[in-house]
Amino acid sequence: MKALLLVDIQNGFCPGGNLAVADGNAVVPVANRLIENGGYGLIVASQDWHPEGHGSFASSHPGKQPFDMGTLNGKPQVMWPDHCVQNTPDADFHPNLNVTSIDYVQRKGEDPEVDSYSAFRDNDHHAVTGLDAYLKHQSATSLDIMGLATDYCVKFSALDALSMLPGVRIRLIADGCRGIDPDGVKAAFEEMRTAGVEIITSDQVLEGRGHG
Ligand SMILES: [Zn+2]
Repeated sequence: MKALLLVDIQNGFCPGGNLAVADGNAVVPVANRLIENGGYGLIVASQDWHPEGHGSFASSHPGKQPFDMGTLNGKPQVMWPDHCVQNTPDADFHPNLNVTSIDYVQRKGEDPEVDSYSAFRDNDHHAVTGLDAYLKHQSATSLDIMGLATDYCVKFSALDALSMLPGVRIRLIADGCRGIDPDGVKAAFEEMRTAGVEIITSDQVLEGRGHG
């Protein structure tokens, strides 16, 4: 079964959102094209879903400004602006995303004491979200990944997919991703490629339909 993972395509990460990624909304039409014509048997989406006052928010750390480095539970942590707070419009999927075709939504970042960039487990690797078990249960043989942001949630999701889903082909759809820091994006692509993630384009998926 071919599966597609849409990472955090939420208002908060698109222009106008609280943690906007430049051009983040440009991934929405890519996602919709793949949902409709990519030949996937399974569409899953992750959703950053923080309680108010989450420990990754600069506002929870007196004296810290957004994008400062700080610590959370003794570990280095980027101090983010408040974003994707549960049950707020910032946490909603982008309004143009074809959400009716999503089979399964994996929420993450609900524990106030640890951040969760990856759709699969928290940053400490202590708690898994359950997405790996779901994909194994659905007999996913390949997983294509796209979304926001390349240098954080997409990268960590792809790396975890490689290690937590042995035997599953992991591909990253480059034109379906946008990142926060240009140097970080370049490094993220290199890190994913080196680890064994295939970097492809949405056109390759659409052209390759029916060829395995
Ligand atoms: Zn977050």
